[in-house]
Amino acid sequence: MALRVAIVGGGLGGLAAALFLRAVGAEASVYEQASELHEVGAGIVVSPNMVRPLARLGLAAALPSFAVRLEEAWEFRRWEDGRVLFSQTMGSECERLYGAPCYVAHRCDLLALFQSALPASQLHLDHRCTSVLDDGASVQLTFARRDGSGVCVAADLVIGADGIHSVIRDAIAPKVDARFSGLCAFRCLVPAERAPEMALRPVQSVWLGPKRHFVHYPISGGRFVNVVAIVPAGEWRTESWTAKGEVSDMKREFAGWDARVHQLIDSATDTKRWALYDRTPLERWTSGRISLLGDSAHAMLPFFGQGAAQAVEDASALAECLGGVGRDSAPAALLRYEDIRRPRANQVQLMSRGREIRNHLPDGPEQEQRDRDFAQGDPLRQSAWLYGHGQDSAATGS
Ligand SMILES: Cc1cc2nc3c(=O)[nH]c(=O)nc-3n(C[C@H](O)[C@H](O)[C@H](O)COP(=O)(O)OP(=O)(O)OC[C@H]3O[C@@H](n4cnc5c(N)ncnc54)[C@H](O)[C@@H]3O)c2cc1C
Repeated sequence: MALRVAIVGGGLGGLAAALFLRAVGAEASVYEQASELHEVGAGIVVSPNMVRPLARLGLAAALPSFAVRLEEAWEFRRWEDGRVLFSQTMGSECERLYGAPCYVAHRCDLLALFQSALPASQLHLDHRCTSVLDDGASVQLTFARRDGSGVCVAADLVIGADGIHSVIRDAIAPKVDARFSGLCAFRCLVPAERAPEMALRPVQSVWLGPKRHFVHYPISGGRFVNVVAIVPAGEWRTESWTAKGEVSDMKREFAGWDARVHQLIDSATDTKRWALYDRTPLERWTSGRISLLGDSAHAMLPFFGQGAAQAVEDASALAECLGGVGRDSAPAALLRYEDIRRPRANQVQLMSRGREIRNHLPDGPEQEQRDRDFAQGDPLRQSAWLYGHGQDSAATGS
């Protein structure tokens, strides 16, 4: 009999897990608290280590229909005058090195792609998990629905893909609050016709300045420019994809910056604002028949653009470990999955945290040294640990 796996959470990680598990013959169902699946209007970097596993699911071929391939470059610029500190062509070089291109996409489009590959009967919306109990032989889940009713489900295994505030994690690790980074992100989509020409190039631009940075790239086949501005949070603590911010506040944060940054901010009609939290690496992800995946296992700051990519790597590795495994040996397979994935995800989690300091250096000798290092560096090759991870071995997740 096929292994029955209940996945709690229908974000990018949960859906990816269901797709990979189904591909190895497991009976995987997703339980999502929201009544419909949607991601907010924001962009996401789909790096080669996410594209390769998606190719194995047969999904990568659809990416060019909505995502923008980072053809020309990624570039780093100085805050004050836009001087290019570093620029590197990605395009075919990325494919040559890492076997896949790097895309930037609208999150909604990516989620819709994942959802389209999952039979509707395997996705249970309006199911908010309220409890999980592993009795050794199986796992019992309880869900609350909006009409006040409750649903109980039994599964051979449960995967918590329920994000940074995971309830499933509470069954595995001590309950600890997420760590506030002191930063927040303004995020907006600017229609291409309003955006300055320089922001329409298939380039990920990162402007670095004291205590903040500003990122933009085109998405949705070039119809929008995605803007992410990371700044000190002040009193802002709201962590919600839908919380509104003020464009005027974002503009004030970049007082004195290059006119092109302001041109882009001025083109925005509205913005979301999101306080940034992460978590300290967990010592374990697995207990008996329950394990974690994605942000529930390793919520990280977005400075490497890797949260979703790591979730997809998790999903791929999980399926590799569970493929052909029976009910009795499934807990051991979950431990194998954790052994493969936890060191890697922890590393990305901690390095993402560390990158804040480097990105936000005040002007001075350290910043000058950083900029000299940029000029001499080769980030595409230096990112082999990230983008090339496990290129020859599916079990490591990429
Ligand atoms: C500003 C910013 C920029 C980013 N940029 C990138 C990027 O460029 N590239 C990248 O790879 N990553 C990026 N990330 C990270 C990425 O967004 C996350 O790592 C990724 O979305 C995590 O996916 P997930 O499925 O694990 O969790 P989530 O997306 O949080 O999904 C969790 C799901 O679980 C559901 N849920 C929660 N509790 C319950 C419950 N009790 N019962 C049922 N369902 C529940 C939620 O409704 C949600 O749908 C960025 C993050 C931020 C904040």
